[in-house]
Order: sequence, then C-alpha cells, then structure tokens
Amino acid sequence: MADATCSYCEGQAVYVREHEGVKFCSNCFREAIEEKFRKTVIRHKMLEYNDHIAVAVSGGKDSLTLLNLLVKLEGRFPRTKLTAVSVDEGIDGYRNEALDLARKACDRLGVRQLVVSYRELFGITTDEIAGMKLGQTPCSYCGVFRRKAINKAAMMVGATKIATAHNLDDEVQTILLNMLHGDPVRIVRSGPVLRDPRGKFLPRIKPLGEIPEKEIVLYAYLTGTEFQSITCPHGHEALRNDIRSFLNQMDLKHPGSKFTLQKSAERLRILLAAETPLADLRECEKCGDPTPHELCEACLMLGAIAA
Ligand code: SF4
Ligand code: ZN
Ligand code: ZN
Repeated sequence: MADATCSYCEGQAVYVREHEGVKFCSNCFREAIEEKFRKTVIRHKMLEYNDHIAVAVSGGKDSLTLLNLLVKLEGRFPRTKLTAVSVDEGIDGYRNEALDLARKACDRLGVRQLVVSYRELFGITTDEIAGMKLGQTPCSYCGVFRRKAINKAAMMVGATKIATAHNLDDEVQTILLNMLHGDPVRIVRSGPVLRDPRGKFLPRIKPLGEIPEKEIVLYAYLTGTEFQSITCPHGHEALRNDIRSFLNQMDLKHPGSKFTLQKSAERLRILLAAETPLADLRECEKCGDPTPHELCEACLMLGAIAA
C-alpha cells in the first residue's frame, strides 16, 4: 500500500477495496461491513416485524460473523427473535471443534441454540457415507441432508425464516456451477431471499450474500471471532474448487468481477422467473416433506444408500 492512510480518517489503512478504490483502517472497515450488512437486510426486506430467525451456525467464519452481525442488528428490529440452529453431520475431528465454537459464541451472545445430528435424523453420518464409496461425492449427500436438517431444526424451534451465511463468493460460484452443470434454471431458485409463493417452505435469507469472503475473514479477525480454520476432510468438490480459483484470478485482474456476475444473475433471475412456472408440490411418501416427486431428494438418497 503506497499511501497507507484510511480514505475516511487519519488512521493507518489495513485493507484496500480495489473495485471502489478506497482504503480502510480497521475501525472504518468494521463500520463499512456493518453498514453494508444493514443495507442488504433493509434493501431486500429480509427482516419483518415479529420474525423469528433460525440462524444456521456451523462454527465457521461466515456463520459466526452472520450471528454476530444479526445480534448487533437485533437492536434495530426489537421484535425480531434469533435462535441458532447447528447441524452435526458426524465428521470426526472436524465438526466437533466447530460445534464447540458455535456453542461458545451462542453462550457469549445470549442466543439459544438447537443442535440436530444426521445420526438422529437420518440414521447415518457423513463419515459413514464417505466410507461407502457411493457413486457421488460425500458432499452431494451431505449438502442435501444439511438443507433438510436445517429446515427441520427451524421448524422445531418455531422459526418464521432461515438465515444462512452464504457470502458473495459462494453465491457466484454456485451461479457458474449451475451454468456448467447445464442447469441455468436453478439460478431462479437462488438469490438473496428465497420465498416460496406456495408457502410450503420457510423463507431463506442470505444477509452476507453481497460481502466477499476475504472481507468476512478480515472482519472476523478484527472482531476477535474465534472460528474453525481446518477444512472438512471430505470436501473435494473439484469443479467448485476450480471455479473458486478462476473467480479469484478474475477478481485480482479485474476487480469487481464477482459483483458484476452477481448483478448479471439478478437480471437473469427476473427474466427466467417469468418463464419458469413453479412445480406443484405433494407430500413425500416417506417423510411427508413437500416435494414435486414421489420422494424428496433426501429420501431418494437414503433409499439409494440402503440399497
Ligand atoms: Fe459436508 Fe462436503 Fe461440507 Fe464436508 S465439505 S461438511 S462433506 S458438504
Ligand atoms: Zn478510518
Ligand atoms: Zn422425504
């Protein structure tokens, strides 16, 4: 940093936001992230009067930052209630540490926490699935089960909405993944707020969706947030990793590329939504959850695992 002075005060700059051409000292950076978070929540009308938000907290940097920022924001939405919901996928030596960090953060912030496990909900763990050498990666199963587990936990605590900690990088990676999987219509089912007009699924909000991952890491570090740093031993999503590297290179050479991609997806979503009618839903024959098919995705997977 040639001129290492904050663009907003006389302080020492610690971070340059390249695409805006501004430098931040640690205080101004923290305030900028909190302001951006507030603006995202308000612009997309993420919180409403009397909302009870189930915050998906894994113990990683993103979810602990989400919880911290929501607790700070709670003051401006006094009728909003927060409950943390955490999922134990059964990954030895990995999830235990994260759950411990999540529990400590909830205690410190005075937020009630509910932990549910794959073992109790589905009778199997991600470690066991990984050991079975099934056709798909463990992440394919784990991701579907996590969505279902979070939904169940949110229902159990009586939540009206679910908040997840997807950041800008996660969002644009998923957009490109959908394109590379030949499934652009899935873009309709993504975005900062997912509301089901049929009223069958709880609305989902992603208040960190406009904040780049590196800014969340820095915010977590500057606020002294203790988060899990080791990565999951089963996490080898090759295509997502390649997309991550590609996007990081693009953003380095052409700052702001990730935001541009996100904006393009927002436009596509509006165009595609008009042409993509929602499927009719029925009850899953096994678990009763809403699904367009005879069985929901999780029950289909559990059936394949048992076969
Ligand atoms: Fe599950 Fe894959 Fe995430 Fe590990 S990396 S917790 S297996 S989705
Ligand atoms: Zn400053
Ligand atoms: Zn089912």
